[in-house]
Amino acid sequence: MNNNNYTKVLYNHNNDTWMNSEGDTLELLHGSIESGKRYGFFLNNSYWDCDCEDNYIHKRSESEFCNICGVHQEDMPDSREHEIKSGEHFAK
Ligand SMILES: [Zn+2]
Repeated sequence: MNNNNYTKVLYNHNNDTWMNSEGDTLELLHGSIESGKRYGFFLNNSYWDCDCEDNYIHKRSESEFCNICGVHQEDMPDSREHEIKSGEHFAK
C-alpha cells in the first residue's frame, strides 16, 4: 500500500478527463479553507462514500449498499482519490 499519500494522475486531452494509473476516471474539484486559500482534490468515480463515521469507502463494482448505514451507492458521492490511496477508510 502507498503510505505517502501520493497520487499519480494523467490528463487525457482527447476527452478532457483526468485518470489515475489504474485507469479510473477522476474529477478535479476545488475547495477553500476559512482563510480563503484554495486547494484542489480529485474524486474517483469507481468508488463511493457511505454515511459511516469511518470505513466509508466502497468500490462501486463490488458494493451496491452499505450493510452498516444502509445507504445506496446511487445516492452517495464519489470518494476522494487521496483517501482511496491512503487505504485507511475502506469499508470492512
Ligand atoms: Zn456505511
